Amino acid sequence: MKTTRRDFIRTTGAGALGATLVPALVGSQAPGVSSGKSYDVAVVGAGVFGAWVALRLGQAGRRVALLDAYGVGNARASSGGQTRVIRMGYGDQEIYTRWSMHSLDLWKSLLAQASRPSMFQPAGVLWMARGEDPLTTKTLATLRRLGVRHERLGRPELEHRWPQIDFGPNNWAIYEPQSGFLMGFHVVQTVVQNAMTRGVEYLQEAVVPPAGKGRLDSVATRSGKTIRAGTFVFACGPWLPKLFPDLLGERIFPTRQEVFYFGPPPGDARFRSEAMPVWVDFAEEIYGLPDFKGRGFKVAPDRHGPAFDPDTGTRVITPETLATVRKFVARRFPGLKDAPLVSSEVCQYENTSNGDFLIDRHPERDNVWLVGGGSGHGFKHGPAVGEYVAARIVEGGKMETRFSLATKEKVQKRAVY
Ligand SMILES: Cc1cc2nc3c(=O)[nH]c(=O)nc-3n(C[C@H](O)[C@H](O)[C@H](O)COP(=O)(O)OP(=O)(O)OC[C@H]3O[C@@H](n4cnc5c(N)ncnc54)[C@H](O)[C@@H]3O)c2cc1C
Repeated sequence: MKTTRRDFIRTTGAGALGATLVPALVGSQAPGVSSGKSYDVAVVGAGVFGAWVALRLGQAGRRVALLDAYGVGNARASSGGQTRVIRMGYGDQEIYTRWSMHSLDLWKSLLAQASRPSMFQPAGVLWMARGEDPLTTKTLATLRRLGVRHERLGRPELEHRWPQIDFGPNNWAIYEPQSGFLMGFHVVQTVVQNAMTRGVEYLQEAVVPPAGKGRLDSVATRSGKTIRAGTFVFACGPWLPKLFPDLLGERIFPTRQEVFYFGPPPGDARFRSEAMPVWVDFAEEIYGLPDFKGRGFKVAPDRHGPAFDPDTGTRVITPETLATVRKFVARRFPGLKDAPLVSSEVCQYENTSNGDFLIDRHPERDNVWLVGGGSGHGFKHGPAVGEYVAARIVEGGKMETRFSLATKEKVQKRAVY
């Protein structure tokens, strides 16, 4: 079923936080669906990666179909959360700092074009550190080398600027004043709206795992349609192991991740985005976002949770994690020690063995691309991923080794944060 751009915009709202409807569907058939016609590229999965790949290919003049089983930015997708952090700090993993810098420019330009600049909030990002913390020390060097605006703040300055935080054993921090957060699923919907103005056809269809070997000419959908294309991009995030069980069943590890939103006391402005930045307490493997538009003060453990099924997994938080998070909040943000939980999300990371993305051709099907492995940090990089994948498809060119399938191990050893 094809969704027209007008229907899509009508049902996804004009950008206000809280407009959560999935696209309405109309019955008309897109040209490559069960007919003799064919798309240049079919992109399966309209999360942040697939959306940007489709947009870039549309801009390059390709006839593109973008398919999603549950809808753009749906609640099961890894891209389906309310907000996502964009920071430049990545230790000494320079490629991700560079991609993040480039992506932030592209996000801003897309959102400005769409008259929705406030979907990126430059609240700043504060990376708290203890002693010689190697990751933060390396981050500092990388930010300096690449000319990213930042400040190194000692304890007195931290306490002066943000008295609402009890820094505990953290005695210094890096502050990135130009980083911040994006409106999660809303910005993905904005990317797809933009892609549709470039002729990309969005179809809400679930693709059946492709069988056989060799070149792929078409895929089938669960509703019985056939989608023909010259090239296929599978950007299915945590579903990639279900689509390619033999290849990826043991190489992408979807893990259950809980997100908590606490309600600050009435009239208390100290925890709003005007008053404090996004923060990361790396040693405690936890991060969070200030209260934005009254949605609550977000706190999310970054430690990998148990294995999770993105289709059927229960998306209700556990009392155990809530208790742990509450204790942390009471210590680090004493003004929130009695704050009620006002909402929550259960999402999943789609981890590779070390956190590097997976962007490669299928080893036995050279017109099939595998794009995923965002590993809990991929969202911000959507624009760079889209540009990279579209350029490889359209122009060819050198592939980045660290994104290759060959580097993806069957045992997890996290190295990229
Ligand atoms: C709780 C949480 C917090 C995070 N925080 C951050 C952050 O602050 N900053 C950051 O940069 N990153 C963050 N991430 C990581 C980031 O959100 C993900 O890496 C990114 O969204 C992955 O996007 P994707 O497009 O690969 O996958 P998804 O968003 O999961 O998209 C895949 C899509 O494929 C579709 N699909 C699956 N199977 C089929 C099929 N058979 N047919 C058709 N469609 C199909 C699904 O419906 C889905 O929409 C976080 C992730 C989580 C879970």
